[in-house]
Amino acid sequence: MSSDASLREWNWSQKGRHTWNFYPSISARRKSELQISRKMTQALTGHGRNKVSLFRFGQAEDPFCGRDGVTEQTWDHLTNSCQLFEQERSRLIRKVMLTGERWPPDARVLVGRFIEPFSTFINSMDFDLL
Ligand SMILES: [Zn+2]
Repeated sequence: MSSDASLREWNWSQKGRHTWNFYPSISARRKSELQISRKMTQALTGHGRNKVSLFRFGQAEDPFCGRDGVTEQTWDHLTNSCQLFEQERSRLIRKVMLTGERWPPDARVLVGRFIEPFSTFINSMDFDLL
């Protein structure tokens, strides 16, 4: 994605509360060393391929995670607690908890202090499982 496209995506997506949780201001976003992949964009904006978004646009029969059938499949669920990615998430949780942080940490902490293991985790997620 070009930097212009990234900026447009940001300008559009910052209206979403989900992204706001990660980056309270565009200057905070610029300071981050985040490498934006397609998966990271989806995780940070909360849009894209999760059941809550698909359901909202009439592309899924319900908003629930296929793993347990009762939890709404939001990006918060997928990144913080979904059992589908337990193994991939374990390295990230270990890194976070070794510093004395609780799991899950505040979203801003994740993209701040833990951006490297966080983006590794997000990019390791197999979206075909969703
Ligand atoms: Zn789940």
